[in-house]
Amino acid sequence: MEPPSNLATPLKQVWDHCLATYSDGLFGFKNYGWDQIMATKGFSSINVCVRWESSVSVTEAQRTQVAQTLNKQYQKWFQYLYGYDGFPFSEIKVNVVECCDWGQQVGREYYMNNLNTENIHILLHEIGHTYGLDDFYDWTPTGVSNFIMLAGSAAQVTEFDYWMLRNWWTELSRNRGWQTGSSNPTTTTTTPNDGAE
Ligand SMILES: [Zn+2]
Repeated sequence: MEPPSNLATPLKQVWDHCLATYSDGLFGFKNYGWDQIMATKGFSSINVCVRWESSVSVTEAQRTQVAQTLNKQYQKWFQYLYGYDGFPFSEIKVNVVECCDWGQQVGREYYMNNLNTENIHILLHEIGHTYGLDDFYDWTPTGVSNFIMLAGSAAQVTEFDYWMLRNWWTELSRNRGWQTGSSNPTTTTTTPNDGAE
C-alpha cells in the first residue's frame, strides 16, 4: 500500500523536517505513543489518563461517556494502521485510567461540550502528537493546506494525516526492531505527480 503519488513529496518533506528538527535525531525519544502500544505485548489495549483538572464533581455516566468518546477518537487514527505494513494489532482498545504520566491535554470544558461531536478535532490533533506528528507553525508541505496537524485547518483526520501516521509506523517500527524486512517507504520516493488521483 503506497500513498497517492501527489502526497509523496509532501510526506517526504515532513519526514525530513522531523529528522532535522526533532531532538535526539527523532529515534532517541523512547516514549512515543508507539512505544506505549508495543509495550502492551499483545494485550492490544492502552491506558490513557484522564485527569479532572477541576473541582466540579463528575458523574459515573460522564465517566463512561468520556471513556467511550476517547476510544472513538483514537480509532479515528488507529483505523488506518490496522492491516497496514506489519502493524501487529487489528484492534486497540483504549482504557481510561485515573492517573498515569502520559496522555493529551485538552480543556475540560471543551471536551465535555463536545462529547457528542463526531470529530473532536483538538483531541485528534493532540493524539497525533502522541504518535510523533509535528506541528506546522512555520511551514507547510508542498501542495497540502488542510489537515488536522496544521492547527485550525481541518476538522477531521485527513488522508495526508493518516499517511504521516503510517510513515511513522513504517520508519519507527524498523528502527526499533519491531519488524524487519523492507517496506515501500514513502520517504525514499520523490516521484513527481503522475496525474493519478
Ligand atoms: Zn499541536
